[in-house]
Amino acid sequence: MAIIGAGPSGIYCALQLQKTKNIRIDIFEKDIPLKTLLVTGGGRCNLTHFGNDIKEFARNYPRGEKFLYSIFAKHFVDESLIFFKKIGIETYMQEDFRYFPKSNSAKNMREKMLSALNCAKIIKKEIKSLKELEGYDAIVISTGSKGGYKLAQEIGHKIIEPRAALCGLKLSPKSPKYPQGVVLKTKEGDILFTKDGISGPLIYKISSLNARKEFPYEIKIPLLNTSELLCEVKNNPKKCFGNVVAQFIPKSLAHVIVENYDKDCANISKKDTEKLENIIFEVISTDGKGEIVTCGGVELKEVNNKCQSKINPKIFFCGEILDIDGFCGGYNLQNCWSSAYCAAEGIKTCLSLQKEPQQA
Ligand SMILES: Cc1cc2nc3c(=O)[nH]c(=O)nc-3n(C[C@H](O)[C@H](O)[C@H](O)COP(=O)(O)OP(=O)(O)OC[C@H]3O[C@@H](n4cnc5c(N)ncnc54)[C@H](O)[C@@H]3O)c2cc1C
Repeated sequence: MAIIGAGPSGIYCALQLQKTKNIRIDIFEKDIPLKTLLVTGGGRCNLTHFGNDIKEFARNYPRGEKFLYSIFAKHFVDESLIFFKKIGIETYMQEDFRYFPKSNSAKNMREKMLSALNCAKIIKKEIKSLKELEGYDAIVISTGSKGGYKLAQEIGHKIIEPRAALCGLKLSPKSPKYPQGVVLKTKEGDILFTKDGISGPLIYKISSLNARKEFPYEIKIPLLNTSELLCEVKNNPKKCFGNVVAQFIPKSLAHVIVENYDKDCANISKKDTEKLENIIFEVISTDGKGEIVTCGGVELKEVNNKCQSKINPKIFFCGEILDIDGFCGGYNLQNCWSSAYCAAEGIKTCLSLQKEPQQA
């Protein structure tokens, strides 16, 4: 059998298959195997997230939530952690429920995964057409978001248009000149002001939720608790309003967004404070940087719960090529592990059926 793409999903699938009797696994990779793993989690590899409830966990996938129920039912967080332990990758959970390898090194994790792979051959080659693999009895397409859509289309699969998700956003040039490099801490997460837009964990999540929305669009983020602000204003009538606001948000940002910055609090009305309840941004595009995951890919209706093509039963998909994407926190790699496991199980069934003696 053949696997196209030696990314996290392709290699995990091969690892699940390699103990199958009489199996030959050829993995075709156009670049360096598991190169993508190296950059994950800032070089530490956030390999999954705590989870004991499949439905709750699947809510972290703006695309693929329902499809993942049956995938996770077969192979979920614990099964992946147990498997990693088996191949010598010890893990730990951080306070924020994200899992990392104990080595805190994506490089080490990559080495461990590759050295556990002892029965598969990695061939450096870009597959441009499935016709090149005609002799194989089963094929896994695990090419991620770049490189495999044409292969899936070749056999008639629909590709849901790819869009960037988990990325920074560019703001309208008409927006105020926000202070670059400043971090705004909000109840919902941090926002980092960049040269021409906004980024950071909260913005990644918003970009993901809005990945299918047409530009331009507005986003509204709760900024200040106005009753707390009003209370401070009332208690400090001689203080300048801007400085009171700067007790809650960075001063450089307060300078940009507060009208009447220099007015004494005695002259500030409830209406003035209410204007600071939310901050509204006009988004014109993604910022072209830091795209962590792609929304879109192989339409899930055309794939069964073994990650097998409903069009051609010899073909399986796993990982990011599927129209599945999750938030930051280890969810995207968990999709790789679980879908790769299901594809491997599907292949075992597919190959054993092919080997069954024909009835006379
Ligand atoms: C900067 C960054 C940080 C991230 N951090 C995290 C994190 O901490 N946790 C998390 O859960 N997710 C993270 N992700 C997302 C995660 O890395 C991806 O979801 C994951 O790599 C997808 O794995 P995959 O195997 O499906 O595809 P890929 O990783 O894209 O691998 C596909 C492989 O296929 C090869 N290929 C493609 N086309 C062909 C072809 N035609 N022929 C041969 N080979 C081909 C490619 O060269 C590649 O090696 C991060 C992503 C980025 C960009």
